[in-house]
Amino acid sequence: MADGSESAGQNSVLEVRDVVKTYVRGGLVVEALKGVSWTAERQRMTLLRGRSGSGKTTMLNLIAGLDRPTSGSIRFEGRETTSLADAELTRFRRQEIGLVFQTFALLPTYSAFENVDLVLRIAGVDAVSREARVREVLGLVGLEKRMHHRPFELSGGEQQRVAIARALATRPHLILADEPTGELDSATGLGIVRLFRQLMEDEGVTICLTTHDSAVAALADVAYEIVDGHIAGQTSAAARVSLPSA
Ligand code: ADP
Ligand code: MG
Repeated sequence: MADGSESAGQNSVLEVRDVVKTYVRGGLVVEALKGVSWTAERQRMTLLRGRSGSGKTTMLNLIAGLDRPTSGSIRFEGRETTSLADAELTRFRRQEIGLVFQTFALLPTYSAFENVDLVLRIAGVDAVSREARVREVLGLVGLEKRMHHRPFELSGGEQQRVAIARALATRPHLILADEPTGELDSATGLGIVRLFRQLMEDEGVTICLTTHDSAVAALADVAYEIVDGHIAGQTSAAARVSLPSA
């Protein structure tokens, strides 16, 4: 990994500036994001918190390059991603970003191992390196003993751990997680957020997640409140005491 490359004052992984996203559907204009600016610092957990329809998923989709902003700038490790050509944007998403979804999005007929292995195959990693990395990331999320189970043989929390292992497999610098606790009971959800914090330490990743759950928000380093396509406020964890491990 090309780490240790942060030059002075370059500690942000992501800089979002004046991002506007307008959808036009059947002649109706929806302004999902109305000029949004925020920053994600390296190895921090940054949270976007807001009600349903406030623009959270739209924001993460733009960062991941699944869609393009109407105007504004998104810089990832100093590079503008909004001006990348489609093929470069796809490569960027596959190699530099890990995605985690509310509904896990695992392939149902694949085992945990095969679900994680697939992203490494797509990335062109050889079989020997793949096997080592799949075992390593499933170990990091505490699922080494469930490796050959398929999603229906796993609990919701375990399925989300597989999805997190899959997101980590290609060693992305940034993980984007859209309401990753939304389908889980609150204790399991908090376990997932604690796991993310542990992975920030162990793997050096930066995490951006969305939620509308205040218990989840309390575990973030920085939380941006998003209301109707605007950033309405920002809170930071003042002095974070170390969390009990999950
Ligand atoms: P959240 O994730 O916070 O619930 P979204 O980003 O999904 O919010 O949606 C923000 C707004 O943009 C909503 O009003 C939603 O209906 C609208 N929207 C999202 N995606 C589309 C789309 N593809 N076409 C039209 N409108 C959309
Ligand atoms: Mg959403």
